[in-house]
Amino acid sequence: MHFTRLRLRGFKSFVDPTEVPIEPGLTGIVGPNGCGKSNIVEALRWVMGETSAKRVRGGEMDDVIFAGSRARPQHTWAEVALTLDNRDGTAPARFNDAGELEVTRRIEREKGSTYRVNGAETRARDVQLLFADQATGAGATALVSQGRVTHVIHAKPSERRQLLEEAAGITGLHTRRREAEQR
Ligand code: ATP
Ligand code: MG
Repeated sequence: MHFTRLRLRGFKSFVDPTEVPIEPGLTGIVGPNGCGKSNIVEALRWVMGETSAKRVRGGEMDDVIFAGSRARPQHTWAEVALTLDNRDGTAPARFNDAGELEVTRRIEREKGSTYRVNGAETRARDVQLLFADQATGAGATALVSQGRVTHVIHAKPSERRQLLEEAAGITGLHTRRREAEQR
């Protein structure tokens, strides 16, 4: 599985529909300070099921919704869609009949988030597991935000072990085991 496209609507500074093609060879996003580079990476993290507002630089999750500007009123919702190419058939079994997957997360002010995979409403948990298994999840080491390197250096051994397990792609396994033990 690999990412092919990210679409943002009403997410942070991306008030107008914006499409970011993710093609082989993409190595960076450049632009002046404050143009939205980090917001794009956060949109990716968010659509994969991020639950911490802090990790998308908000006080609460509603802060990802376009807050308005002098010229434009605030939005009441935000939506991010991530398209995945699954022609290699590596998606988890329940999603694996599709050659292309589109994962969508939508948030409405004061109402929280809903997720869809190819149009069908899906539990947040299943979206998180879909990406945890691919070692790309919202909290995965594949996404290192500004300031994170210092955090890793000062992390407790148990936290560092969690990072290594994520990199090794076994976090999804642990999460499922914990869920099974709670039943
Ligand atoms: P730098 O080069 O400094 O790292 P950047 O390109 O990463 O900058 P971002 O941090 O992605 O820039 O974008 C910051 C901009 O996004 C700021 O102008 C901020 O006001 C705007 N922004 C963040 N949240 C919202 C929101 N909810 N509504 C509107 N604008 C927002
Ligand atoms: Mg930035």
